Amino acid sequence: MQTAFSEKTYKNFINNEWIESESEQTIKSINPANKEEIVGYVQNSTNTDLENAVQAADKAKNAWRKLGQAARGQLLFKVANIIEENLNDIAETLTREMGKTLPEAKGETARGVAILRYYAGEGMRKDGDVIPSSDKDALMFTKRTPLGVVGVITPWNFPVAIPIWKIAPALVYGNTVVFKPATEAAVTAAKIVDCFAKAGLPEGVVNFITGSGSVIGQALIDHPLLNAITFTGSEGVGEGVAKSAAARGIKFQLEMGGKNPVIVTKDADLDAAVEAVISGGFRSTGQKCTASSRVIVETAVYDAFKEKLIQETEKITVGDGLKEGIWMGPCASESQFTTVRKYIEQGLEEGASLLYGGEPLTGGEFDKGFYVAPTIFENVKPDMAIAQEEIFGPVIALLKAADLEEAIKLANDTKYGLSASIFTSNIGSLLEFIDEIDAGLVRINAESAGVELQAPFGGMKASSTGSREQGEAAKEFFTTIKTVFIKG
Ligand code: NDP
Repeated sequence: MQTAFSEKTYKNFINNEWIESESEQTIKSINPANKEEIVGYVQNSTNTDLENAVQAADKAKNAWRKLGQAARGQLLFKVANIIEENLNDIAETLTREMGKTLPEAKGETARGVAILRYYAGEGMRKDGDVIPSSDKDALMFTKRTPLGVVGVITPWNFPVAIPIWKIAPALVYGNTVVFKPATEAAVTAAKIVDCFAKAGLPEGVVNFITGSGSVIGQALIDHPLLNAITFTGSEGVGEGVAKSAAARGIKFQLEMGGKNPVIVTKDADLDAAVEAVISGGFRSTGQKCTASSRVIVETAVYDAFKEKLIQETEKITVGDGLKEGIWMGPCASESQFTTVRKYIEQGLEEGASLLYGGEPLTGGEFDKGFYVAPTIFENVKPDMAIAQEEIFGPVIALLKAADLEEAIKLANDTKYGLSASIFTSNIGSLLEFIDEIDAGLVRINAESAGVELQAPFGGMKASSTGSREQGEAAKEFFTTIKTVFIKG
């Protein structure tokens, strides 16, 4: 029998009203730790619903722009407070819906609050520069101006933090928003939007619509009233987003996959490196774009590192992330579970050897969810699928390198370039790594998966379109510049 919580149906939010889709159909969201539990139902929206959402955002954009940056910032402070008041409920929903452990979900929600406060503060910061004119009687300055209606399309792995790190800067810099979350985590997204709704934003400033990415997501990007699109998700979908946006000449920003390396040099602190690899590789069940998925170890310390890594991996407790003492939850969905298993099989077929894990976990509560063991491969060749493709699961590939030069070459040998980390105590090695590595996030003696909200975030190569999110860098995407010249 369903609980009251499970029966809840979440609506679209358009023009400050929670409304059902004209399709009269919903999509169910289930708990990956217990597939019998329905977390909620979201609207299976149509292009007509999408049209209403974009029209609402377009109608609201001038008044929102004219409200002024400081007033917009004040509203974001209110949203932050409301999310903070509801933190436990939001975090629990997040864990039920995508499976990460409750402490991780709480951490992500608290991060969402901090991001909102950061951008609320932006409301009181400068929005341009004075530039000396060659005419001594003139005043010349730049002024940031919003883009208009911004589409926000997000993945399921950080269903609180990613939407907020896009929506908060979009709003404070004066844009209105149409937000289409990942279907897998749309109930959590609805709870976040509810906090925006309760803060009393003007009608049409934030619009929320759920449903199939290939239907309403695509229609959003193709809509003539959309002025920009910010997307985080897979490389395949991102390519299509880029083509559609470029064809219409609108601004677009893509953050996509990663195949993040960790280099361990012969002089590294091996205990610290092991701790970081476990955290970066297996937290959130490896479903982070910045997860550590390739560990490249200098031959001189390979055996010692490997032994310690296995010892620590054995301590990982897997189970329902709502339960105390559980360190790693299930894969977020059946399709993710299938993908992870497919890569493990491919790794074996291509000749890699399993050092640890590799099997789905079964028996007892495991039978109810999508569980795989933390998995470590060795004897991995650089051209194998498990060394090249993003798995998005708890799978680590160990590779050997004779020296730092070979390690960096291996680290750069993928199409991705999001995050990269090195463990070393040699200043020359770390300086060389900083210079030579192809990655947007370069981490020294720290795990690959750490991100600070006040610093630019984004990748190189196929991981990104090269623009940066978060911190002050977000202003570059969400605004354009007017250069003003006033003759006295
Ligand atoms: P997807 O690309 O499958 O989906 C992302 C979003 O795009 C979802 O909202 C999805 O909707 C929507 N979508 C799907 N098809 C289309 C389409 N044709 N047009 C427009 N929108 C569409 O990614 P996942 O949700 O599976 O997320 C995992 C991916 O996200 C990984 O590759 C990961 O690396 C990446 N990621 C990157 C980050 C970064 O900052 N670099 C951070 C976090 C994740 P629907 O759910 O309805 O299909």
